[in-house]
Amino acid sequence: MHPFSYTRAADTREALDAGRRGGRYIAGGTTLVDLMRETVERPETIVDISGLPLREVRATERGGLRIGALVTMAETAAHPKVRALYPVVSESLELSASAQLRNMATIGGNIMQRTRCTYFRDVTADCNKRQPGSGCAALKGHNRTHAILGTSDACVATHPSDVAVAFAALEATVHLLGPDGERRIAFADFLLRPGSTPHREQALRQGELITAVEIPALPRPLKSGYLKVRDRQSYEFALTSTAVALHVRGGVIREAKAAAGGVGTVPWKLPAVERHLVGERPSAALWAAAAEKAAEGARPLQHNRFKPELLKRTVERQLRVVGGAK
Ligand code: SF4
Repeated sequence: MHPFSYTRAADTREALDAGRRGGRYIAGGTTLVDLMRETVERPETIVDISGLPLREVRATERGGLRIGALVTMAETAAHPKVRALYPVVSESLELSASAQLRNMATIGGNIMQRTRCTYFRDVTADCNKRQPGSGCAALKGHNRTHAILGTSDACVATHPSDVAVAFAALEATVHLLGPDGERRIAFADFLLRPGSTPHREQALRQGELITAVEIPALPRPLKSGYLKVRDRQSYEFALTSTAVALHVRGGVIREAKAAAGGVGTVPWKLPAVERHLVGERPSAALWAAAAEKAAEGARPLQHNRFKPELLKRTVERQLRVVGGAK
């Protein structure tokens, strides 16, 4: 590990000052410390923000739910309002990482976590994300777990977060605070596709701090859930996953929200699936037809040609679970 200086921010102003000078924020530390040990990340200064007052989950005036950036994964998953209103969020968190990690890792840190591409974490391998311009070892290497959607010639790594898939499906908003004040950004615009600059992963400005993630109000009743397909049943990242939410009234689907994980360079919203569902009556045939749209535009790699079909089956199964098998 390279030498670094550590400072603990007493308040938000102190944190922002340190961030503006190039300090890296740290809260639970469950990603950054690993990457520093592996010398993938070498920050000069880390700024501990774990003491900031960003630990509240509360209903918003707009009828949604605001989850403070420092609420842990475990606290979020167990929160009565999250469980009652957005079970898809609780389920996505409970299927993530280990109990120990969920007790430490925060919501803000979770959506900031970096890819699990093994070449990214191997400092001897070529990786455009770690070292811009060096190449991408995964393109011709072992790429079974890599992305099939949103990829570029520069990078094919997946975003590893599960709860980010739920946030993408529900069209959440990220609240930010920076030297120039507060701003909000749609979750769909917060995480960046790699394009030719895979080292740029979020639409954050220098020194900006995530303060909360807000989930909008959605029509009730709303049924939702998360399905994760992986090589083993615990402490593993998704091969495919899906977050689905459906509002059915009078026997007709009035609103549908869907996104996929494990397949995209960012959590992958599924608008074609959503469009296929809205205005229709739930049925097994509808679930199958909608799921056919899930892998549109997919570009499989040598070792993950199974992913488009697995994705479609994942979405179909979860639509059946959430919407009912008829
Ligand atoms: Fe690096 Fe992305 Fe290629 Fe992985 S897929 S080696 S993260 S550039």
